[in-house]
Amino acid sequence: MKITRIETHVCHARMRNWIFVKVLTDQDGLYGWGEATLEWHTRGVVASIEDISELIIGEDPRRVEHLWQMMHRQHFWHGNGIVRATAIAGIDLALWDIMGKVAGMPCSSLWGGPVRDHVRTYCHLGGGNMEDFYETPVENAARFADLARQAVADGFTAFKSMAVPSTLPIEGLKPIRAAEKAVAAMREAVGDDIDIMVDCHARPSPAMGMQFAKALEPYGLYFFEEPCWPESREGLAAIAAAVRTPIATGERVTHLSEFRDLFMAGACAICQLDITHCGGLTGARRVAALAEAWRIALAPHNPQGPVSTAASLEFGFSQPSYIICETVHHDVPWRQDVVSEGFTVEKVGRIVRPNTRPGLGIEINEAEVRRHPFQQEILQRVFLSDGSVGDW
Ligand SMILES: [Mg+2]
Repeated sequence: MKITRIETHVCHARMRNWIFVKVLTDQDGLYGWGEATLEWHTRGVVASIEDISELIIGEDPRRVEHLWQMMHRQHFWHGNGIVRATAIAGIDLALWDIMGKVAGMPCSSLWGGPVRDHVRTYCHLGGGNMEDFYETPVENAARFADLARQAVADGFTAFKSMAVPSTLPIEGLKPIRAAEKAVAAMREAVGDDIDIMVDCHARPSPAMGMQFAKALEPYGLYFFEEPCWPESREGLAAIAAAVRTPIATGERVTHLSEFRDLFMAGACAICQLDITHCGGLTGARRVAALAEAWRIALAPHNPQGPVSTAASLEFGFSQPSYIICETVHHDVPWRQDVVSEGFTVEKVGRIVRPNTRPGLGIEINEAEVRRHPFQQEILQRVFLSDGSVGDW
């Protein structure tokens, strides 16, 4: 059995261009789907996949670990940079999809699963609608409460918000109070039985992240995400030690050694590895094994397209420490037209029952993808109150 071709199918989905990766073989009808979506770097990832393809075309697709080693280590540069890491991940997912199809079982069963009856999911406020999630002003607490109620009405028992504003490296009380009011309004709106998450998008300095974490601690957040840059391991660790709120991070980390350093520093209780950036399912399984040594929970980052979701779910059905799957469902209205999925989502509680098809259990509708060709992602250029550059 040989890999004959690797294709990329780019599908413009407003905030992101989903990059679907199709690995074809010399066996009639046998191919795998992966995803290598990397917002604002679409052209770079597509070209990187073309470069990496040269290494593995003609090879046996069932030698997934061997091919991963080739993709990661050959041609001198290791695959740690975000563009190449994402390209490798996209191909790796497709190889595991092929492996599942060859074995006639879902990927999670290849790894000894399923380890649970269902996977819990959470949504973004607004279900992934860009304006609702990313652009609701933190000062508008009433809007946060309305969107929180809507998430619960949509069946979710957990949701994530961006209830922390961008700040200069040091600011006074105003942004802290605004965040407090937004979170208080959401808690008031949905009660204590619903889990609320707050994502800081790694915008605050460690000092501001500490203040936000302390201010929001009384509201019992399920987790508090990226309160400062992942490079500030000491800052994350100090925040994690100072509050009882579980701290989550990891979506921007690509290599096992960086995860090791985060875990050793005590920087997080929840690892948000991104399966499409940290070496695919091959890399993610290594990170999961490492996390288990610290009893760190897994909640993969997944605001991308449907193959990423299918991969996160297969991972979830095979990893005991997996706690919840991030989902978006209102990013584009035609999301479900692009994909056919092997798992089922129960509307009440938004829990997912296992995929019953081989591999990742998904099929991409290529004709539908062609209706949404590449477009430049909407630019997000952030400047702070004094005109200095901020993080998005
Ligand atoms: Mg995040």
